[in-house]
Amino acid sequence: MKCYACGKTGMKTAVEKVDLDGVAQVEATVRRCPSCGEKAVAYERMDDLFRQVAVELSDADRRLMPHELAWLRKYTGASGRDWADFIGRSPETLSRWENGAEEYPLAFERLLRLAVKNGPMEWEYVKELRDPKKTEPRIELHQNSAGRWVRT
Ligand SMILES: [Zn+2]
Repeated sequence: MKCYACGKTGMKTAVEKVDLDGVAQVEATVRRCPSCGEKAVAYERMDDLFRQVAVELSDADRRLMPHELAWLRKYTGASGRDWADFIGRSPETLSRWENGAEEYPLAFERLLRLAVKNGPMEWEYVKELRDPKKTEPRIELHQNSAGRWVRT
């Protein structure tokens, strides 16, 4: 196999423990070029692997580290902007939580853990929830002469 960086042949392949964005050590197939040092990492069954890491992280019996928040948020398939809108905070605030510049609220961590448990979120649905034009008309109730609440 040719090195995609320098074009020379002789890439060496090995299964190694690889650091996954600082959130876990996972096994992966690593190809290294002895000529230029270029490295390519291939994860086996990446979806399953990432799901397993996400579930283990979200089950951790401790507060999450800021970079773990960021990793889990990305795992939910949403941008920082999506999540910021969803929780009613600015993207800048979310960014400060994820880089450790500001302490994040426990409620956000719980929501993120719940999102991971539920699997990939339907972000189109979440966005529709925020759009007042697409929300259902209000249900009007009034009290009848018998004191019962009924729909108008
Ligand atoms: Zn190379």
